[in-house]
Amino acid sequence: MTTLAITGGIGSGKSEVARMLAEKPGVRAANADDEAKRLMVEDPQLRAALVRKFGEETILDDGSLNRAGLAERVFGNPAEVQALNALVHPVVREALMGAIEQAKRDGIILFIYEVALITETDVAEVFDAILLVDASVETRIARVMARNRISRGEVLARMSHQKPPDVLRPLADYLIENAGSLDLLRGKVDDLFSTLVDL
Ligand code: ADP
Repeated sequence: MTTLAITGGIGSGKSEVARMLAEKPGVRAANADDEAKRLMVEDPQLRAALVRKFGEETILDDGSLNRAGLAERVFGNPAEVQALNALVHPVVREALMGAIEQAKRDGIILFIYEVALITETDVAEVFDAILLVDASVETRIARVMARNRISRGEVLARMSHQKPPDVLRPLADYLIENAGSLDLLRGKVDDLFSTLVDL
């Protein structure tokens, strides 16, 4: 089995690439953000750690995670963001290792993992290969404005929380420049899939 991390800035087309790959036979896909959200709710030890660090208000009356409250609490406070990440990232990493082992047992040929914050989360070395999906800043802004129905300013605010994709280039084994149409992207994804499956 080959393991591939898919990274890139917001609006680069990571999810689109992951979706295209996931349609192929023998591929299993996971997503770091989704896993973090799931584990913050479902992992009892992580929940307990969040309550210890961020207080009882981390859990709502109905037992669910107060995600909005937590986001508000850490927003704009790098030390708090770091404390939150220090609790969440190791649990997500552990789950990833488990998912990779399970995929091997299930006879999967390609395991893909969408992860925007690859340098921050310490998972790069887990993978056989890293794919960087990239496009110009203007293209990415336009895509995210359309996808999320938000203003240019809101997109820029989100981008400011991510490292510029250029710092990811030295890390990448494969690069997909997603500047053209979705059909063009599909062609590049097909080529990459053939390469990876031949590995
Ligand atoms: P990311 O996951 O990197 O934030 P997405 O894959 O969600 O980015 O892409 C952002 C938006 O742009 C989505 O609505 C997606 O469908 C669209 N998109 C991505 N690539 C292209 C492309 N080559 N042509 C047109 N639209 C695209």
